[in-house]
Amino acid sequence: MSILPIFLYGTDVLRQKARPIVSLNDGVIKLAYDMMETMHKASGIGLAANQVGSLDRIIVVDITGVEEEREDGEGRGPEEKNPNRPTRLVMLNPEVGDQQGQWVVEEGCLSIPDVRADVERAERILVRFRDVNFRQRELEAEGLLARVILHEIDHLDGVLFIDHLTTAGRSLLKPKLRRIRKGETEATYPVVPAGAAKKSGRVEA
Ligand SMILES: [Zn+2]
Repeated sequence: MSILPIFLYGTDVLRQKARPIVSLNDGVIKLAYDMMETMHKASGIGLAANQVGSLDRIIVVDITGVEEEREDGEGRGPEEKNPNRPTRLVMLNPEVGDQQGQWVVEEGCLSIPDVRADVERAERILVRFRDVNFRQRELEAEGLLARVILHEIDHLDGVLFIDHLTTAGRSLLKPKLRRIRKGETEATYPVVPAGAAKKSGRVEA
């Protein structure tokens, strides 16, 4: 497995729509596992293929051990052992069905380092996807898991979490976004800033 550099805000691939995977092949499986490793290395809890420069509809999620703070104040512990509540997932061609409830939580993104903002999303979702064996599956997700899946599916459609903010909310972030666009970030993981992606499509990291 390899660690892939993460494309930053300002790169074109983050604004492109990823294409459905029509059949499973070694490249798709390798990409999924590389994405999982890349996400873990960057201490993220979700990653979409666009973020590593690919337009295959793949997302990975791992919220294992992440405490979930709910508005009622009840935290939730690790749920890895309950198969009905998976915390680590590879999803190919994920699609959201029914959505219920709304809640606001502060989000961040590995492609937009050091920027955080409150985002409203559905609290419970039904998601259909194919697993790493290309079997069609369906999952009811809620809370943090639902939120991460929605954030990552947005990426596959070229949408970033800052797009959900009001104009006023986004303008507060403008100076930071401008710096990221120029490649001025303190990210602790390998990245591809906007300028570098335009020049060569990749950087050595
Ligand atoms: Zn993100």
